Amino acid sequence: MNKFNLPAAVALLLATACSTTNDPVPTQPLTEHLTLGNPSGATADVSQPTNYLLSKPQYALSYHRDRGIPTWVSWHLDASWRGSAARQDDFRADNTLPAGWYQVGGSSYSGSGFDRGHQCPSADRTNTVPDNSATFLMTNMVPQAPRNNQQTWANLENYTRTFLSSGNEIYIICGAYGQGGTGSNSFQTTLDQGRVTVPARLWKVVVVLPTGDNDATRVSSSTRIIAIDTPNDNTINTDWGQYRVSVDAIEAATGLDLLSAVPVAVQQVLETRVDEGPTQ
Ligand code: MN
Ligand code: MN
Repeated sequence: MNKFNLPAAVALLLATACSTTNDPVPTQPLTEHLTLGNPSGATADVSQPTNYLLSKPQYALSYHRDRGIPTWVSWHLDASWRGSAARQDDFRADNTLPAGWYQVGGSSYSGSGFDRGHQCPSADRTNTVPDNSATFLMTNMVPQAPRNNQQTWANLENYTRTFLSSGNEIYIICGAYGQGGTGSNSFQTTLDQGRVTVPARLWKVVVVLPTGDNDATRVSSSTRIIAIDTPNDNTINTDWGQYRVSVDAIEAATGLDLLSAVPVAVQQVLETRVDEGPTQ
């Protein structure tokens, strides 16, 4: 017995309930990243292998088994996701995929002339070692031309994080579409014996909100939204600002419905706009 004279099983139940109540994790750990919507209505249904939802504590994505890459990845970024955890660099297969599906490996892109391009970046998940490590799962990667990944894309990633220090939180959705890109070697349509598609284009949408609650309802016609659509080509310009487009243009190119949890009247205004703000 224990100090409350409760049977051990009852005490364990109480302790479990109390630790759940006191757990400091966010109240919606598995849906936080889909607050602004699920762009393709993805579900964790193995009979839908081209639109398979992987909902992780660190990000959510729609995986396309036959392309070997995600169609989109969505994540929330606020100051709580940032800390001092080191970059883990542990690129590896995602063994949470359904049984029997090919698992793209950490060396599947080797020698291809394409980088393992993070969708949710390592530097957006530095709060803990496990959260940083999760960004190195290959389900979070696409084959990305090195100049795009290391310069154009990285510049926007770095700029996005600057909003955190001025009292903002951010929702980011990105993905890839089409087939065929030019890395540091040559034009290629697939890697890894055809099991990984090289996308033609990479797009990203960044939504900047002052820190607060009920985020989807706070998106307004004055919310800054940065949308880009870039070529997967090593001749890309390093200035991401040149690739700005409307959200509507990305929706038209991909067939996705972005920001679907935002009130329709607000989407209609915001999604036609092309950002003209500063780029650094
Ligand atoms: Mn990158
Ligand atoms: Mn939309």
